[in-house]
Amino acid sequence: MDEIVRPTRVEVDLKQLVENFRLIKHHSTPSKVMAVLKANAYGNGLIRVAQLMQELKADYLGVAVLEEGILLRQSGITLPILVMGGMLGNQIPVFLKYDLTITASSIDKLNQIDEAAAAMKMKAKVHLKIDTGMERIGVHFYNAEKFLEASVRCKNIFVEGIYSHFASSDSSDLTFSKLQLERFQEVLDFYSKNSIEPPIRHISNSGGILQMPEANLDLVRPGILLYGVYPSNEVKRTITVKPTLSWKSHIVYFKAIKPGHPVSYNSTFTPDHLIRAVTVPVGYGDGYFRSMSHKAEVLIHGKRYPVIGTITMDQIVVNIENDSAFNGDEVILIGCDGKNSVTCEELANWAGTIPYEILTNINTRVPRIYK
Ligand SMILES: *Cc1c(COP(=O)(O)O)cnc(C)c1O
Repeated sequence: MDEIVRPTRVEVDLKQLVENFRLIKHHSTPSKVMAVLKANAYGNGLIRVAQLMQELKADYLGVAVLEEGILLRQSGITLPILVMGGMLGNQIPVFLKYDLTITASSIDKLNQIDEAAAAMKMKAKVHLKIDTGMERIGVHFYNAEKFLEASVRCKNIFVEGIYSHFASSDSSDLTFSKLQLERFQEVLDFYSKNSIEPPIRHISNSGGILQMPEANLDLVRPGILLYGVYPSNEVKRTITVKPTLSWKSHIVYFKAIKPGHPVSYNSTFTPDHLIRAVTVPVGYGDGYFRSMSHKAEVLIHGKRYPVIGTITMDQIVVNIENDSAFNGDEVILIGCDGKNSVTCEELANWAGTIPYEILTNINTRVPRIYK
C-alpha cells in the first residue's frame, strides 16, 4: 500500500530549487551565498531544503530563531548556521553547544556572549548586527564604532561576520537602500582605518540581490528568491527564478446545491440557480486564509473555479457550475495545470497580504512531498 498521506499536500520541486540556487549563485558570484531557511524554509520544509543546500555546497544557512538551528543540527546538518533574530543571555550556552553562530546586536549582548563562552571554555562565533535604517535589532550605524572596538577586545569571541538588513530593497525607489549601504560602508571603514582584516560583510536580501549588485559584498542572503517567488511586484526581475512550491488537494465530496440554499458559516453566499459544488479538505487551519473568502479561486482539470461561502477551518466549497468533477480529482490551490496557474501572489492579493505570509503560514499539518 502507498504511504497514507492527507489528500492535501505541499509539493516541492527540488530540481527547481537547485536551479534557483544556481541562478542566484551565478548572478552574485564571487560573493558567498547564505540560504535563508527560516519559517520552515518559507513553507518548503526546513530539513529537506537544508539537506539540499548542504549537497549544493551553500556557504551558510540563515534561520530566525534558536530552535530552527537546533533542529538542523539534530538532523545532521554541518554547514555553518547563523541565527539572525534577537536572543537572550540565557540562550547563549545552547548556541555554543550546537555550534550556532550568534547575532550580537549590542555591547551588552557581546559581553554576555564573551562571559558565557569563557565559562564554557569555548570561543563563540558571532556576526555583529548594524542597524542602518531598519530600526529592528542592531547597533545604530552612528554608534557602531564603540561596538566594533568592543568586539575586537572580546577574547572569547570570534567575530566571523558583520551585517545589516535592507528595509526596502524590493522597492522601485532604491534611495533608502542606497543610503543604508552607504551607512554600512562607513561603519566598515573601521577595519581599514585600524588595519584589521574585516570579517564577512553582508547586507543583501532577495530585493538587494535582484536590484543592487553593488551591495553583494562578501555574502548574500537570499530567502524568498530561492523559492522562486519575487519579493514584490515592482522589483526588477534580473534573475529568472520559478516557484518551487505547489499546494494541492483532492475533491472529497460532490453535490448539487439548489437555488436559495446558502453555503457555509453565516450564509454569506446563496446561489440563485442550481449549481454543482465540490468540497476540498483545506481551510484556514492549514493556512488557507479565511480573509480570501469570496475571492479565492482554485484549478480543477486546468480550469479556474471560485471558492464559495466563507473558508472554514478545515474545508472549502468550490462552485463548478455545470461542469463535472469526481471524488479524488486533483485541486490546485497554488501551482500550474497546463496553461493555467494560481500563484502565491494571487493568494496574497486575495488575503490582503504579501507572498511571504502565504508561504510561511502553510501549516505543518500539511505534509510536504518532494519531487
Ligand atoms: C528574512 C531575512 C532575509 C531574507 O529575506 P528575503 O527577502 O526573503 O530574501 C535576509 N536577511 C535577514 C536578516 C532576514 O531576516
